[in-house]
Amino acid sequence: MGAQYTGRFAPSPTGPLHAGSLVAALASWLDARAHGGQWLVRIEDIDTPRCVPGADAVILQQLAACGLVPDQAPLYQSQRSALYQAALDQLIATHLAYPCACTRQDIERALAERGQVRSRHGELVYPGTCRLGLRGRPARAWRFFTGNIERNRPPALMGRTQTAPYLIANQPLHWQDHRLGPQQQNIEEAVGDFVLNRADGLWAYQLAVVVDDGTQGITDVVRGEDLADNTARQILLQGALGLPLPRYLHTPLVLGVNGEKLSKQNGAIALDTTQPLRALDEAGQVLGLPAGLSTRAPADWLQQAVALWARRLKLTGD
Ligand code: GLU
Repeated sequence: MGAQYTGRFAPSPTGPLHAGSLVAALASWLDARAHGGQWLVRIEDIDTPRCVPGADAVILQQLAACGLVPDQAPLYQSQRSALYQAALDQLIATHLAYPCACTRQDIERALAERGQVRSRHGELVYPGTCRLGLRGRPARAWRFFTGNIERNRPPALMGRTQTAPYLIANQPLHWQDHRLGPQQQNIEEAVGDFVLNRADGLWAYQLAVVVDDGTQGITDVVRGEDLADNTARQILLQGALGLPLPRYLHTPLVLGVNGEKLSKQNGAIALDTTQPLRALDEAGQVLGLPAGLSTRAPADWLQQAVALWARRLKLTGD
């Protein structure tokens, strides 16, 4: 595969790496190296209120202490607004993005009127109110049209002449995960028309990640299973923007004592990289690698792990 593989680790600098984020970083590194590919790091610092100054440098140091060094200088999403704007303009031009004036209360009210207040990970399932236009209200955000024109006949069309690529009437979007197997989601029902540019002016994760994976030539997205739910939306955006589709592998999560996914938000402690072999061993075991691969140095540990990973992928032929 060689040069045909480009992978990435894309941390949000909201704090130092924890045990769970090292699993995703390690898996993406191992998969890239086992395929003889490149490995990049992208700092996802667009959600500025959640970013912690200096966390990017801490994350890069923690990765380096574990022997995980990107092949190119890390890219920062905060410096790429022009690209996200160009992508939004492209979606507006094809009528797949539309302005939305709804506040959270408006959305709650509209859903309550239909007797269906539904949310997904704290996000309300948008009922599509502004598909019909702003009706004099000021635009707050931009949303992606997840409807299918075969099902949403005029006036819901508002000039829309096409359905987003990959959307087939009354069908969920199907995709394949290397670990989880076949996946599907009916995006319009499960998520609704999702936000591309937020009411506070910030770019939404879905748009930024797709633009960056596309422009960086990412062929393989390897990341934590908690992000699997975003994949259908990202595939939809890739199709709408004419970007190539990467392959996907979602890795197992590290659970906290309460049985919930370990995250910076639920107070996961920073990864102790003064003992990198121990950190790598723990992360490796979550990925099904044996303990104690090396007692020498991270580089040696990683070399053993890549060989096992390649064998698992049947890339070595033995
Ligand atoms: N920045 C995201 C996070 O830290 C990861 C995005 C991705 O890998 O697609 O959860």
